[in-house]
Amino acid sequence: MTEVDGRRQHVGLQLPDAVATGPPRWSAHAFGTAIDVNPVENPYVEGGAVQPAAGQPFLDRSQARPGMAEPDGVLNRAFRAAGWQWGGRWTATPDYQHFSATGG
Ligand SMILES: [Zn+2]
Repeated sequence: MTEVDGRRQHVGLQLPDAVATGPPRWSAHAFGTAIDVNPVENPYVEGGAVQPAAGQPFLDRSQARPGMAEPDGVLNRAFRAAGWQWGGRWTATPDYQHFSATGG
């Protein structure tokens, strides 16, 4: 977490974690092949729940605001150039903060 223009910014690796559902396995974060960027501005949705809850206002992706990952924005272009994929492309459980080298 860093302070940029008076706003808190989160850019960093999550601690190693296990995937919460399904058979035991490690998430791509555990191997350093995934990163979450600005979780509030780029929440994820699973089972109708928004995580983090503070990200609810950012589910409306129709207008870009600072910190938001957009399909053709600077974050996606940079990660795509490195061969990484965006979790925001998942329609059932969009994970707008998630970028990974594995696509998962
Ligand atoms: Zn992630």
